[in-house]
Amino acid sequence: MDSRRDFLQKLTLGIGATALTDLPATARELYSGPKADKQLRVAIMGLGSYGTRVAEAMKDCKMATLVGAVSGTPAKLEDWKKKYNIPAKNTYNYETVSKIKDNPDIDLVYITTPNSLHYKHVLQIAAAGKHVLCEKPVADNAKQTREMIAVCEKAGVKFYIGYRMHFEPHTRELIRMREAGELGKIMHVNNYMGFKSGDPNQWRLKKALAGGGAMMDVGIYALNGARYATGEEPIWVTAQETKTDPVKFKEVDETIMFQLGFPSGVVASCGTTYNFNNYERLYVIGEKGFVELSPAFSYGPIKGRTHNGPMNQPVITHQTLQMDGIADIILNNKPDPNVSGAEGLKDMIVVDALYESIRKGGAKIMLAGK
Ligand code: NDP
Repeated sequence: MDSRRDFLQKLTLGIGATALTDLPATARELYSGPKADKQLRVAIMGLGSYGTRVAEAMKDCKMATLVGAVSGTPAKLEDWKKKYNIPAKNTYNYETVSKIKDNPDIDLVYITTPNSLHYKHVLQIAAAGKHVLCEKPVADNAKQTREMIAVCEKAGVKFYIGYRMHFEPHTRELIRMREAGELGKIMHVNNYMGFKSGDPNQWRLKKALAGGGAMMDVGIYALNGARYATGEEPIWVTAQETKTDPVKFKEVDETIMFQLGFPSGVVASCGTTYNFNNYERLYVIGEKGFVELSPAFSYGPIKGRTHNGPMNQPVITHQTLQMDGIADIILNNKPDPNVSGAEGLKDMIVVDALYESIRKGGAKIMLAGK
């Protein structure tokens, strides 16, 4: 399929006529036109490295506008007010954030705080009646995630996870090919994602703030990728952990290999690490063809090849696509491409089982009833 030609055909329909998430590919051209009339008004909570990346990416958005900020650091709020033209009345700290409920100018809060604070912050924002977009991993475990989903439902707010790959053109094309049967019956998946972690004092190495190590941070990409590469939910898992630096990784996992068994009989062989670089790939093999993405999960540019040759999808900043995609879903009531809180829960159930398998010396953990 000529995805560029297909994209250009869809482009002529205009931004409002086609769900961004339906597009097999979105191109830079989409972002050269005017902003849409309706805008999703977003506040970012936790102005760190990723929050800043999102803020920069949102400058190009057509349907989402950055209008607010929540931070524990007053100097950052001052900086963001100037840099992103945020009015003082739309700025909060973690103590005052519940007052956001009285602010009619903010629709959604994007939570980009450390992992183990997501639970508390999602509950706070839902209680304030605002839609929530929460970074991965959604929480420390499935129990917390279930509660977050229930609280958001009760509050009548939408709850999404920052699974940006679901808006990324190569990834969307992989899913389209699999759903269209172009790969045939899926036979095997091999996914991995990791990097060498730096500063030994960072929160990512502290269990109380990170919830876990490489698995929680980036292993989640390999796991989520195995689910969208197969279109199935795993029924059993096994996992093995190795630790070469027990001082640095005293509190969190360093390297984990894990296997996911699916109802069709497919086994996904996956890995994650905080101890070496150049470890990033999604490889799905079917009876009729294959897709290999490498890099597959980082900011990219994502590159891919299939049994038909190199992939030709456009390269667009993931966070721009994600924020316009979320805006399109909320403002135009479009279906979401598997980025709901319920999708986060499916991953957390597996993560819990992976850690259980490790605790039990690599035992096979059945997922039914979990
Ligand atoms: P940073 O440490 O750079 O930023 C986190 C921010 O959270 C801080 O700057 C701070 O902002 C706020 N914060 C509130 N309480 C604390 C606390 N106790 N300790 C430290 N910071 C605190 O982390 P990242 O931006 O890299 O990661 C944030 C989240 O985003 C994580 O959940 C991570 O998994 C996710 N992420 C997702 C990526 C993706 O590609 N989807 C990529 C990178 C990260 P302030 O001073 O404003 O309060």
